[in-house]
Amino acid sequence: MTHRVDSIQLPHSTLGTHRRVLTHHFGQAGARPKAYFQASLHADEWPGMLVAEHLIRRLQAADQQDAIVGEVVVVPVANPIGLSQHVSGRFLGRYDLLDGGNFNRGFPDLAASAHKRVADMLGDDPATNVDHVRHALRDAVQELPIERERDGLVAALLGLSIDSDYVLDMHCDDEALVHIYAAQHHQDIAVELGADLGADVVLLEQEAGGAPFDECNAGVWWRIRDRLDESRPLPLSCFATTVEFRGRADVSDALAEQDADNLMRFLQRRGVVTGSAQPLPKARHNGTPLDGVDIVRAPGVGLVAYQKALGSRVRSGESIGDLIDPMAEDPATARIPLISRADGILFARLASKMVRPGQSLAKVAGSVPLPHRKQGNLLES
Ligand SMILES: [Zn+2]
Repeated sequence: MTHRVDSIQLPHSTLGTHRRVLTHHFGQAGARPKAYFQASLHADEWPGMLVAEHLIRRLQAADQQDAIVGEVVVVPVANPIGLSQHVSGRFLGRYDLLDGGNFNRGFPDLAASAHKRVADMLGDDPATNVDHVRHALRDAVQELPIERERDGLVAALLGLSIDSDYVLDMHCDDEALVHIYAAQHHQDIAVELGADLGADVVLLEQEAGGAPFDECNAGVWWRIRDRLDESRPLPLSCFATTVEFRGRADVSDALAEQDADNLMRFLQRRGVVTGSAQPLPKARHNGTPLDGVDIVRAPGVGLVAYQKALGSRVRSGESIGDLIDPMAEDPATARIPLISRADGILFARLASKMVRPGQSLAKVAGSVPLPHRKQGNLLES
């Protein structure tokens, strides 16, 4: 039996308190492939926590049958700092109340630091190069500056994930279908994971912007590769993805059991766990560019009434609902249609029906990059 539970204590930011990150480890340390899962880095997104709980049960059962080939690390509660943030009885876990920063942005780019460490060691053997780079990445994480509690959290999570073959960061949207974000480089495996998860949408980006956790783990490989000539081959050795397990309210054993079963099949398919993964389900979505997602924003203040359900096909120029000014003196002038600029699938909506001007209300995944999405960060703040 290999299952081990551990924890990492974070530097404290208030007297008399210490938070910790709890970790579950399966398989031998250093065995390959290594898969890393974390849930609820945005601390008010809870479906992933329940998926993690069911996944840990399944990994325990696999471990009892000596079926763990590689190494698996599961962090069921990735953000104990955010979990402490309550304001007037409301849970606020997306942004750090200390400075307003989004907990899933601003992860460090380790490429320069790791490259400097290995530049003289890399040769013509790809596997040896991968080993050197993983070692350098672990060292680079060790030397990240730690001042605030959140710096400690960043270093703790990256210390667990950075040398993984597979990194799954489990989030959710407000009201949504299962969807995943990954890099264009990894389209094949992203679509495979999407098929196993029954994902309705797979979003692929060149560079999402904003430095989220998944891109920190995966992107360092192509950023180092870009610094190398052809005589020093470096395979992209980490597939990292953000998995959105539906909406905030979609916390149920029935869904989490199904999701955990699907993740176990992915682990079997990828050789992390032995056993027959069974044939890959037919993919519901083969991947579309992240800059093909239109984010429908509120054209003013008011109430929202949607006319399109999640999963609806929407045409460019079509309305998905109305923004309503309940203070309009003439109801005939009270409504503004909410127009999609993409042809595609309505896969996420804001749950709150009272909105501010400019607030993002809905996401429509189209297959064609949109001109207005070419600039700036592609992810919401
Ligand atoms: Zn999130």
